[in-house]
Amino acid sequence: MSNVIIAHQLNHAFGEGQLQKQVLFDINLEIEAGEIVILTGPSGSGKTTLLTLLGGLRAAQSGSLKILDQEMLGASKQQLSQLRCHIGYIFQAHNLMSFLTAQQNVRMSLELHDAFLEQDLDAIAANILSAVGLEERIHYYPDELSGGQRQRVAIARALASHPKIILADEPTAALDKKSGRDVVEIMQKLAREQGCTILLVTHDNRILDIADRIIYMEDGRLAPLPQTEEGISNPSPSIAA
Ligand code: ADP
Ligand code: MG
Repeated sequence: MSNVIIAHQLNHAFGEGQLQKQVLFDINLEIEAGEIVILTGPSGSGKTTLLTLLGGLRAAQSGSLKILDQEMLGASKQQLSQLRCHIGYIFQAHNLMSFLTAQQNVRMSLELHDAFLEQDLDAIAANILSAVGLEERIHYYPDELSGGQRQRVAIARALASHPKIILADEPTAALDKKSGRDVVEIMQKLAREQGCTILLVTHDNRILDIADRIIYMEDGRLAPLPQTEEGISNPSPSIAA
């Protein structure tokens, strides 16, 4: 299997001069095509920073970072934006356009891809919205949908163009237990069907089991998963009590 993400000795700092603050240290990470990886760790440990680097939303500063065989260190704006066509993003807040219906939100993301110019975008959008269980809601506006439904639109939007990688930053944080679970199960199912790789940041212990692998970050470094988190991901009667 080939790796879609290879980070080697990746570091990252915010700010300049005396105010400079390093937030990522010596990140080494390889993620294979089709893998579902969960990244967890305390707030402020650098998870979002790492995710935005991996998604080409932030320029890499040092070390090496290869995404889909493209070296990100020193990559041009054009190379970054080409790369972003192959990545789907899902955030904590759904970031849907409030003045567009569910179908129009999904459609808009497809309009950004040259590959879809000749295709029936409304039909593609309706199909993927059905796949996330929203066939009855395609003409609804975001404020007419529940939190879980909105996040399902966001998943449909991210997956509609069949990206090679999905990056999701705390996608269930604003949802109740059942909706959160539903949302990640839908994401998992669609990604498996498409052979898409997922890297999902979460604090939500209830969804850790959807991952092929769990990685843990603390103080800007990848670290072994603490015992308690392992206990939660593999519940045993003694811990559950
Ligand atoms: P997490 O997602 O794990 O909560 P973040 O990656 O958001 O962590 O933040 C890691 C550290 O980097 C924190 O100390 C945060 O304050 C800092 N940080 C994040 N974004 C910026 C920014 N744009 N400018 C300066 N510091 C930042
Ligand atoms: Mg974060």
